[in-house]
Amino acid sequence: MILKVENLTKSFGGLRAVNEVNFEVKKGDIHAIIGPNGAGKSTFFNLISGFHRPTSGTIMFKGEDITKMPANKIAKLGIARTFQTTNLFEDETVLDNLIIGNRLRTKSGLFDAILRTKREKREEMESIQKAYDALEFMEISDLSDERIGNITQEQKKRVAFALALTTDPELVLLDEPAAGVNPGETDGLSTLIKKMAESGLTVCLIEHKMSMIMSLADRIVVLNQGARIAEGTPKEIQNNPVVIEAYLGS
Ligand code: ADP
Ligand code: MG
Repeated sequence: MILKVENLTKSFGGLRAVNEVNFEVKKGDIHAIIGPNGAGKSTFFNLISGFHRPTSGTIMFKGEDITKMPANKIAKLGIARTFQTTNLFEDETVLDNLIIGNRLRTKSGLFDAILRTKREKREEMESIQKAYDALEFMEISDLSDERIGNITQEQKKRVAFALALTTDPELVLLDEPAAGVNPGETDGLSTLIKKMAESGLTVCLIEHKMSMIMSLADRIVVLNQGARIAEGTPKEIQNNPVVIEAYLGS
């Protein structure tokens, strides 16, 4: 298991957004997380990626306890994520977004980000190479000099995927990649997610689009009101009365 989450809980005041969740991901799998709005899915990703500190529970990544690690350290260890709303710099080019975004993800603060030692300069060269490689993987090399403000929503999602790749992850967390994308344009994103898994990456995927989940996921976990209510293969989940009830009841 590349990721092992035990009894993970996050409280916001009196609200248990994530409630005693157990979750295991096998290396190389595409593992989906589904559930109604407000179920705690994004919060769950925020905990794994170090954006939020858990109230209790543990998160193990490749056998190492990352529960209390800061986000930049977790990124360096090999977990990358995308956001429900792509947070790219609209006035910068695609390439610059990857270079800036990579720094923001792996450096601990402004001081780190502006200090330019020799080593830093070498790292910057490497990060430019990584950015080009990631654009090629996501099949958008031709967009490298475009301003983010000038590209489509689907292309922005590809840039967000590319940004995730620039930190050399082993596990990528994708938060609703198809949200805001035209229904006719989601197949390309599905293909890229499959391509990521085929290249050896492990993928955790939050998505509402069921056809996408059913065709991509090896396993699915269902959250409802912060708690895990079901887990299984797409076939098992599709026919699970508890899951159907959670969706209809919300
Ligand atoms: P999902 O992604 O499944 O739609 P979220 O994880 O975004 O759900 O939210 C789960 C619950 O936690 C919601 O009730 C939401 O309002 C609450 N929540 C999320 N983030 C915060 C926060 N930073 N502060 C307070 N409440 C939050
Ligand atoms: Mg969410």
